[in-house]
Amino acid sequence: MIRVLAVASEIFPLVKTGGLADVAGALPLALATAGAETTTIVPGYPAVLAALTDAVPVHHFPDLFGGSATILHGTAASLDLLVLDAAHMFGRTGNPYLGPDGHEWFDNGVRFAGLGAAAAAVGAGIVPGLSFDIVHAHDWQGAMAIVYLQFHDGPRPGTVLTVHNLAFQGRYPAGLFAQLGLPGSAFALNGLEYHGDVNFLKGGLCFADRITTVSPTYAREITGIENGMGLDGLLRYRASVLSGILNGIDDTVWNPATDKLIPARFAPGRLVRRADNKAALQRRIGLEETPAALLIGVISRLTSQKGLDMLVGQIDGLAAGGMQLALLGSGEPALEQAFLTAAELHPGAVGCVLRYDEPLAHLIEAGSDAVLVPSRFEPCGLTQLYALRYGAIPVVSRVGGLADSVIDANEAALAAGVATGIQFWPTTPDALAGALHRLLNLWHERPVWQRMQRNAMAADVSWRASASRYVALFQSLLASRT
Ligand code: ADP
Repeated sequence: MIRVLAVASEIFPLVKTGGLADVAGALPLALATAGAETTTIVPGYPAVLAALTDAVPVHHFPDLFGGSATILHGTAASLDLLVLDAAHMFGRTGNPYLGPDGHEWFDNGVRFAGLGAAAAAVGAGIVPGLSFDIVHAHDWQGAMAIVYLQFHDGPRPGTVLTVHNLAFQGRYPAGLFAQLGLPGSAFALNGLEYHGDVNFLKGGLCFADRITTVSPTYAREITGIENGMGLDGLLRYRASVLSGILNGIDDTVWNPATDKLIPARFAPGRLVRRADNKAALQRRIGLEETPAALLIGVISRLTSQKGLDMLVGQIDGLAAGGMQLALLGSGEPALEQAFLTAAELHPGAVGCVLRYDEPLAHLIEAGSDAVLVPSRFEPCGLTQLYALRYGAIPVVSRVGGLADSVIDANEAALAAGVATGIQFWPTTPDALAGALHRLLNLWHERPVWQRMQRNAMAADVSWRASASRYVALFQSLLASRT
């Protein structure tokens, strides 16, 4: 068994602000069946400390960046955890990164350097009886573990950095460097220095033995100037150790055969039961209860990343073609207003709910005929994976994890009977209109449509394959170090 120390600033179900928490929470279990055993070091936020059972102190730092700190070893939600109990850094409730005023905590640099320093110490063997082959750090908040290990005297485990979102880098004024306790050589072009500032993610990207991101296509895209967020040069330089491993979904929460949040549960052989979910969705969101209308669902943050501004101009045509739209989302006020207006202009054909609503998200996946994800960039994306599992045909832009998870219904794929959805490119209103046109044509070819639904539901969107890929990566890294 490979022993992995994961370093994460959030972990489902204890603390979550985004997909990072889902991955940190789901991967340990998936890795366990694939050949790696994970202990995760997380900050001791009040919610984590409250959930921890059987906790025993395993190490004490008399002074970790301005206060004493203790590492506790225990379990919570079936996860093996090391919790950095450091009240001066993490003893704050609410969002892990933002203060009550909605702004980043003033000392986030020190807080996540602290997490990294503690993780590096554990990775280097400071806790008797706990040794690790791999330190697997997530995002900029975990990246400093890799930097501290790089400057540690003596042997160190292999290091892997997973990037969930290149847009967030942990960038601070150069003055922070003096507090980090690192040799001056760490503040260099090959190190933490980035345009005169300190950049945690950049440090991790420089020194990690392996870098991964959450889909193979996004791994390629971030080496280009358009998606590289200012780090594309470094990522090109490190391309030989960069790869993408697609996220999986929690297939117990998202399982149409057992989902308690939908009125009619169904399996691939019982697709006719989807009709009840479609009718329920139409009623719930104010659409005409027409079984024959092609119903397109959207579940999304309404930001420019997600490309839904392009949908607004398509709505008249969509309604004129007899299609329906069920949109669940929240975000930019102008976009929210645009969809509200569309719903008013097209009563019975367009419905929208502008808030976060987990049960409605399930009903949209279970009752829509298709689910649209027209993102401008998408590291992985989850809603198209849920759509596959629920037999809703995903219509996606060909970027990032969307490109890697949907098989476009082109002539070859249709002839081979393997299509699972529709991809379009470039991410423009015209290309989107073309995709919706193709979708409608397929909708009228019932046997082809049903074949696509069965293919979609048969696609493996679980963590199983991806967990094996992480383990293979760990193994090849370990083999390269001996
Ligand atoms: P991102 O993390 O960029 O927002 P993903 O597709 O990776 O995009 O994940 C989005 C997650 O949030 C999915 O689980 C989706 O179902 C959920 N979601 C987004 N908006 C809403 C909403 N308004 N109500 C309920 N769930 C939502």
